[in-house]
Amino acid sequence: MKLFPNMIINFHKVWDSKWMERVFLLLKNIYNIVSLEDIEDYYYKGKELHICCHITFDDGDRSFYTIAFPLIKKHQIPVSIYVSPQIIKSGKNFWFQERSHYNQEVFRFIIYKKYPYLKQLNPKIPLITILNSLTLEQIWELINEYRLFMHIGEEQGAYMSESELKEVYDSGLVAIGAHTQNHPILANETEQTSRYEIQSSILELSDMLGTQVKYFAYPNGIPSLDFGEREMDVLKTMDIKLAFSIKNKSFTKENNPLSIPRMVIETNGSLTYIVSKLLLESKADKIKRIVLGKQAKDYREEVRELIINNQPNYSQY
Ligand SMILES: [Zn+2]
Repeated sequence: MKLFPNMIINFHKVWDSKWMERVFLLLKNIYNIVSLEDIEDYYYKGKELHICCHITFDDGDRSFYTIAFPLIKKHQIPVSIYVSPQIIKSGKNFWFQERSHYNQEVFRFIIYKKYPYLKQLNPKIPLITILNSLTLEQIWELINEYRLFMHIGEEQGAYMSESELKEVYDSGLVAIGAHTQNHPILANETEQTSRYEIQSSILELSDMLGTQVKYFAYPNGIPSLDFGEREMDVLKTMDIKLAFSIKNKSFTKENNPLSIPRMVIETNGSLTYIVSKLLLESKADKIKRIVLGKQAKDYREEVRELIINNQPNYSQY
């Protein structure tokens, strides 16, 4: 067995250029860094990959352009990013970014006021876990109520502009895939909304880039909790070749190319932590649970069940 199996790595926002460069160099030391095209050839043309890694970034945060992209050019590292054409065009935020600076206690108060039955949940359950169990419409309603309560307006947009996106694409080092329009947890939405979010993001992004988009990453990405067969079927009709989930696992030919696991590397994690995670794969989750107790995603089922019992028209499947 190889010490370091093939791995797809996922980053989001980047805070620190020094950290990013150290991580890039670490990955370059361990692995052969391959492009998304290589991954496509691995699944569709029998290409073999050994001790390889592909690097991905989700959401299209501006820090990708300002911090990661200069380093990608400097070290000639092929990567892929997954973005929403609507967010890029409008200059607005995804819901989770919009609320990222909100006062947690006040926001929790707003949520409990609207959904009193959620008060019976363990107060240790993070707010994001509750929000990840709601629909887009419910989340934006809560954000609007918070804004009214706090007398505040919209936050400043945190994502790349269309010209920045085109610049990174033109570098030839950055492959681009779709990531829905509004970042819903697809499994929480009706079939119609889920289909719209996937299809329109692929069509609009293809239009923006002047080429057929072939790649996709599921928002939040946990298989069966965040997406399922229904979403994979829509991707097939859109001729998507590769779609990425989130799971601390290496990738193999056994994977469904529409549910390829990626390991999330939390920003600013130490190099020792990163290497341990790459070595341990899913065992790292088990260790974290033993040391720190239940993790955010462990509570999702519990929250989902409570919501379904209290909202009979809830559309989850
Ligand atoms: Zn995302």
